[in-house]
Formats: sequence, C-alpha cells, structure tokens
Amino acid sequence: MVKAAIAIHGGAGAIARASMSAEKEQAYIQALSDIVSRGQAMLAEGRSALDAVTEAVRLLEECPLFNAGKGAVFTHAGTHELDASVMDGRTLEAGAVAGVSRIRNPVLAAREVLAHSPHVLLIGEGAEKFAAERGLERVAPDFFSTDERREQLERALASEQVLLDHDGAAQSSGDPLDPDRKFGTVGAVALDLAGDLAAATSTGGMTNKQAGRVGDSPVIGAGCYANNANVAVSCTGTGEVYMRTLAAYDIAALMAYAGLSLKEATDRVIMEKIPAFGGSGGLIAIDREGNIALPFNSEGMYRGYGYVGDAPNVGIYRQQ
Ligand code: ASP
Repeated sequence: MVKAAIAIHGGAGAIARASMSAEKEQAYIQALSDIVSRGQAMLAEGRSALDAVTEAVRLLEECPLFNAGKGAVFTHAGTHELDASVMDGRTLEAGAVAGVSRIRNPVLAAREVLAHSPHVLLIGEGAEKFAAERGLERVAPDFFSTDERREQLERALASEQVLLDHDGAAQSSGDPLDPDRKFGTVGAVALDLAGDLAAATSTGGMTNKQAGRVGDSPVIGAGCYANNANVAVSCTGTGEVYMRTLAAYDIAALMAYAGLSLKEATDRVIMEKIPAFGGSGGLIAIDREGNIALPFNSEGMYRGYGYVGDAPNVGIYRQQ
C-alpha cells in the first residue's frame, strides 16, 4: 500500500521575531495548509504526483507571500527574472525555464517544456515565445511587483548587497521570516497512489541579483530532481552553492550508491555539505516509501506536508 503524500516549501531563512506579526504568520500558515490540502485532494482522486506538484507550485506562485510568480524579488536593474523546473520521476523527463518575465506561471511553462519540447531548459525570449505558442497566460512584467519587494530592493541597493543569505538589513514588514534574510523559492514533491514521484521548484531568485543571473531552481539535479528509483527533491537556499554541489541529485546519489536513508542523505547535504561551502537553506524530499524529510540549516523554513487521508502539517520555525 503506497503512502501517497505531498510536501511543499515556501523558502528558508532567518526569523525576524521583533518584526513578526501574528496576522502575517497566520496568513503564511493558512496559505501553506490550503495548498497542502489541495495536493492531498488531487492525490486522493488518483491524480499523478506530476500534476499535484505542478498545481501546488502554481498556487504558491499565485500567492504574493512567496518569492515566485507574483511577489517575486527584483533584480539589480529593478526587473523580475523568474526560473522554474519540474521533473517526472517515472520517466526522468524534465522541463525548465529561466530568466522569464512575462509568463504568469513559470511552473506551467516548465511543464509544457517537459511535455511538448525535445529540450529540457529554455531561457529568456525563446522560453517566452514557446510558452505563448503553448497558450499560456502572459502578463506585463510589473504584474509580479509588490511594494514589499520593491522596498527590499531599495534596502539592498542602499547597503550594496545581493540579498542571498543572512546579510540583510533590518526591516519591519511583519513577515515571520526576515524578508531580507530569507530564500523565497517555492517547491513541491509528491508520491502518488501509483507509486510515482515528482518534484517542482519555482523562484524569483535573489533580491538585487545581477540581470541574467540564473540560480539552482531551474537546473535539474541542483534545485529539483525526481527519480522513482528512490527520491524526489526540491531545494531553497544559496543557489550558487546548490549548483556547485548538485544538491538535489546528491540526495539521490547518496541513497543509491551509499545506501543512506532519506534522513541520513538529506541531513548530510543540508547540515554538512552545503554549509561547508558557505551555503544556507533547506530542501524538501519524499522517498519511494513515502518517508518525508524537510531539513533546513537556517532559522526557519516555510513548509508543509500531508499524507492522503491525514490533516496537513505546516511549520515555519525550527520548533513548532
Ligand atoms: N535558490 C534560489 C536561487 O538561488 C533562491 C531561493 O531559494 O530563494 O535563485
């Protein structure tokens, strides 16, 4: 009997307790629970893990609380450049887009690449054109902008920092995780009733990033990976370090070649390998037996999971 389940994340980072508001915290908890519930319902209906992770990430993109789709961070140039990926553990087919700014839901474009392109990763104008041809909704680039993200860019420009880790300036947005010191990437992993695994990841990247910079999120094996042989993984954190360590694929490799359990493999990568290169963040993973791991080495990570038939579990901080 397969333990079908879905897990999601909305980014990892530092906790700004002083500026935390109960309302904002509740908004995050509610959004995470609603999206886990939707994924659970889809899996219960017999929908595929691939459909469940695509829909969960689409909903996370639509929610302005998270740095993906609407609510995405700004580049140094004051623009948005979005990246997304999706992978099917059953076939090892994958699709991704990078540096797009007019596709409402980058994860849907990634899914179209998976299903209807001989390629795996499309970037910029070519990706926009492909998505338009596939009938995906286009928006004006400022559709993704929010006042909070613009203020974040202004703080980053004033302090001359690329806000990719715990270097952020003080702020007072009421966000449970300090928005200047968190990773806002979103992702989902799932195991369906047929025993298939899938993963999806989507991001606006890093505040004040150089135009043209691409992180780990759309890179298969770095920020996203799924293989029915063992595991599905979606990452959030210092993209450059996740790329250099092939973090998502490393989980699968440690399980396949070194015989590590899901917990051992995810702890090795998040608590040892990523910090060894100065990286921080977390990931979510589900193995083919339905075990779930949600490790992070930052102070918190927006996260949630739910087995079919159970209530959703969601969390933000280290101790819930
Ligand atoms: N990993 C993402 C990137 O480097 C950032 C994040 O997780 O928020 O683009």
